[in-house]
Amino acid sequence: MYKGGCMCGAVRFEITGPLRNVVYCHCSQCRKLHGTPFASNAGVESKFFKFVSGEDHLTGYEIAPGIIKSFCKTCGSPIIGRNTRQPEMVRIRLGTIESEISERPAAHIFASSRASWDTICDELPQYDAFEPGR
Ligand SMILES: [Zn+2]
Ligand SMILES: [Zn+2]
Repeated sequence: MYKGGCMCGAVRFEITGPLRNVVYCHCSQCRKLHGTPFASNAGVESKFFKFVSGEDHLTGYEIAPGIIKSFCKTCGSPIIGRNTRQPEMVRIRLGTIESEISERPAAHIFASSRASWDTICDELPQYDAFEPGR
């Protein structure tokens, strides 16, 4: 089981299944949402994701129709993303997980959107949109 939470500690969650589609996303939305050159994202089946505390401490932003990013109201940590057309999955941010994880990033996605000052320094495959199969 993986445990994680937000910076201030109000929001806590547990993950009891595998992380899927672990990627570095360089899209302009992830850059703004995280304030970083890229986001480190993974999918979890909703049945394996549970809030331990603070679900009512989240606030959300609908970045596109049906796609809602949820943040801690107090500290702003990005906790989950949901797509109303795909309720069986949530997307989480690897940096909010405190446990050692066994999964590893498999690709850079939206690599063509990356910031001009961002250099990709590893050998993972790079895609101009989502990785194949998603
Ligand atoms: Zn917080
Ligand atoms: Zn992105």
